[in-house]
Amino acid sequence: MQQRAKHRRVLEKKAVEHLGGQCIDCGMGTDILAVYDFHHMNSDEKDTAIGPMIDDNCKWERLRAELDKCVLLCANYHRIRHALQDDDLIHISSSGLLPG
Ligand SMILES: [Zn+2]
Repeated sequence: MQQRAKHRRVLEKKAVEHLGGQCIDCGMGTDILAVYDFHHMNSDEKDTAIGPMIDDNCKWERLRAELDKCVLLCANYHRIRHALQDDDLIHISSSGLLPG
C-alpha cells in the first residue's frame, strides 16, 4: 500500500473511533470503514467536508474540530436521515421499517 493511502486509512480510522466507532442510529460497529459516513448535524454544512479533509491529509486538530460537528452514521442510516431531512421520504411505515 502506498504511504499516502496508508496514512489516509489511519486518519479515517482515527476519525471513526473519535466519533464512537459505531452508527449512532442503528449501532452498527465494524472495522470496515467504507460502511461509515460523517454526517454534519448542521445541515447547512456539507457532509462531504470530512472526506476531502482526510484526502488532503489535513492536521488531526483541524479534522477533529470538524468531526465535533458531526455524528457517525452507516451509509443506510445516513441516507435515511437525509431523506427525512429533505422531506422526500416515501413512507414505508406499513412495512414497519420506519416510524410512521
Ligand atoms: Zn446505522
